[in-house]
Amino acid sequence: MFFNHWGCYKMNEYQAVGMATGWGSLLQDEQQLEELARQAVDRALAEGVLLRTSQEPSSSNVVSYAPFTLFPSLVPSALLEQAYAVQMDFNLLVDAVSQNAAFLEQTLSSTIKRDDYTARLFDIHKQVLKEGIAQTVFLGLNRSDYMFQHNTDGSPALKQIEINTISASFGGLASRTPAVHRHVLNVLSKTKEAAKILSNNPSKGLALGIAKAWELYGSANALVLLIAQEKERNIFDQRAIENELLARNIHVIRRRFEDVFEKGSLDQDRRLFMDGQEVAVVYFRDGYMPSQYSQQNWEARLLLERSCAVKCPDIATQLAGTKKVQQELSRVGMLEVLLPGQPQAVARLRATFAGLYSLDMGEEGDQAIAKALAAPSRFVLKPQREGGGNNLYGEEMVQALEQLKDSEERASYILMEKIEPEPFGNCLLRPGSPTRVDQCISELGIFGVYVRQGKTLVMNKHVGHLLRTKAIVHADGGVAAGVAVLDNPYPV
Ligand code: ADP
Ligand code: MG
Repeated sequence: MFFNHWGCYKMNEYQAVGMATGWGSLLQDEQQLEELARQAVDRALAEGVLLRTSQEPSSSNVVSYAPFTLFPSLVPSALLEQAYAVQMDFNLLVDAVSQNAAFLEQTLSSTIKRDDYTARLFDIHKQVLKEGIAQTVFLGLNRSDYMFQHNTDGSPALKQIEINTISASFGGLASRTPAVHRHVLNVLSKTKEAAKILSNNPSKGLALGIAKAWELYGSANALVLLIAQEKERNIFDQRAIENELLARNIHVIRRRFEDVFEKGSLDQDRRLFMDGQEVAVVYFRDGYMPSQYSQQNWEARLLLERSCAVKCPDIATQLAGTKKVQQELSRVGMLEVLLPGQPQAVARLRATFAGLYSLDMGEEGDQAIAKALAAPSRFVLKPQREGGGNNLYGEEMVQALEQLKDSEERASYILMEKIEPEPFGNCLLRPGSPTRVDQCISELGIFGVYVRQGKTLVMNKHVGHLLRTKAIVHADGGVAAGVAVLDNPYPV
């Protein structure tokens, strides 16, 4: 039995996780919360936990802090360890899917008939396959996200929400938030607790993956091309990776798809040149949602994909991260086919899967729809989109399903079991918002990196974590969508 750090209750911390007021008396003293919040915000600014403002997203003249929680949120150590332990399996799985053209074609065949965006990505994939893949080195930088399902017996279970294979963000800022939470706890003279906040440096690990791919590309003067948006509030997160690369003498240029369209070219060996300089690695921090593609941008993407530069991700790996693929992977026997002879990896992966259901035309899809209509609060309806704010819940989901039910359009969605974590109290600090306690839930992400040269995997690892926390009033949404805020796990 150990002492509860956050309150006066004499119970173990694990029980505290299961308590709505897990922070105890600390969350009740409004004046103290306000003073702590002022200190935390100043430390966050000093540490570089920064975003550009929504008023000036293209300039760093005026910046503010990225929203974050006042306290680190309690996370069961066992689930944190489980999430880390399965990350290399997820890397292998994504890499296997990306190399399996038949699986991708079969899996996405119904979706691409109805979803124009996925169809266009798939079209590029087909064109590249037809011409022959020029790229020989492959780099995956992904982030697998989880929530902690609160089982009926009170125990929590790690359940995957999704895996992000393109533009997985916040690895840079997540390396700077531990110092902020340690500071808050130190202000409270909780030095032992402060020491329990895990150090974290995903941006370094992500950069090491890029550096390895750059090295294997094998041209000392070649650059890393970061495909950036013009209006990028999250630039400091990206800069953290750029800085790590520059420290290793690898130069990064930031360009938009429009720039690639105008000035990008391939030579006869399909080497990629940008402004006359050879590009070894293309790192996408744009190009993960339909609104980011004009006709010119699609053409630029095709040019990049045709090149022998290492794309992170290449088009097949982006497709491997679609929600439709996630749903098909959960089918009985599918993991065994994709990862033959690896029963332990398969078991670890499957243990993290929530219920996932195809909505393709036919009996299976009909049954899924009937189940969702009978118990709407237990399901989420997901289109093939990234970036938050696209999923449908509750009444909205019911209306959409009623409308889609008899149309082939339903195949562009999947249905997912809704994960229900146990809420807890924390303060979400945002520029311009008052300090107050909200009931919250968290989402844990683990960053994974792998590099493959031809058929040989030369790197496969996990490189850190991201905890995001949001108020339970919001069903959907990440940090960029303005709903969740940065957090740190406090392992219990
Ligand atoms: P996106 O690609 O837009 O990030 P996600 O699948 O991650 O799509 O969903 C966005 C958000 O919706 C998640 O961050 C999470 O808060 C919520 N969410 C998604 N799936 C579930 C689920 N099965 N149960 C509970 N919440 C979910
Ligand atoms: Mg997500």
